[in-house]
Amino acid sequence: MLEGYARIEQPGSEIYSTKTDRPFAEKALVELSCARKEFEAYLSTTLSSYPIRLFLAHNRAAFDGLVADVLKVSIERPSSPRRIAQSQRMDMVLLSPAAYSSESAYVYVPDDFERMICHELVHVVQELLSPNIEKSPLWWDEGLAVYLSNQWAYKSQFRFREPVLEAVQDRRIPPLVEVLSQPAFAYTFGWTLVQFIEKNLGRNTIVQLVKSVSDGNVLGALDPCEQEFEKDWKAWLLKRS
Ligand SMILES: [Zn+2]
Repeated sequence: MLEGYARIEQPGSEIYSTKTDRPFAEKALVELSCARKEFEAYLSTTLSSYPIRLFLAHNRAAFDGLVADVLKVSIERPSSPRRIAQSQRMDMVLLSPAAYSSESAYVYVPDDFERMICHELVHVVQELLSPNIEKSPLWWDEGLAVYLSNQWAYKSQFRFREPVLEAVQDRRIPPLVEVLSQPAFAYTFGWTLVQFIEKNLGRNTIVQLVKSVSDGNVLGALDPCEQEFEKDWKAWLLKRS
């Protein structure tokens, strides 16, 4: 599967790519190493020195092959043009930006690419620290990834931010129960919950939740009265307009 792929590395980070994709691999290596240090600081944790590996697939077929063979994750084949990144354990597979125009629904934007590496790294780090990642709810996984990668702060083709701004403007925030349960909301409103918790209870609470929640009940671990939490979260969101 890795025929024609070469490795470049820094301590703790390895990137595999074809020769043609080498400029993207070099960019990815800088971003991955840098983001790794930032998360270690955020979490006040030193991650194991075991390397995090990033595979830059040169086309859609290679992406699907790497996801199946390296990550051992089962996805549809050929995978959707909207799927350009996948992570599992210490590894992540990204479609090379060189293949975006022919094999994805996206265009290459350097900042989006950097933040996506960061997003996938959050998933890797969360899986390393979580006592039971299988039970972790999607809103928490994606909320953490979108928030800590800063994707929430920028308008982009991935639209993590825009639906929230629109809902705030229309003063129509979805009910908390829907945000917690509907997959589409995990990518849009999930980060608002993570940010709300961080702003109110501090970074350390986020870190403790990542490290301690094993039954998937993140809000339960905060011991909030759910109605009160929902009311405060909505009021805080509406103040952003
Ligand atoms: Zn994600």
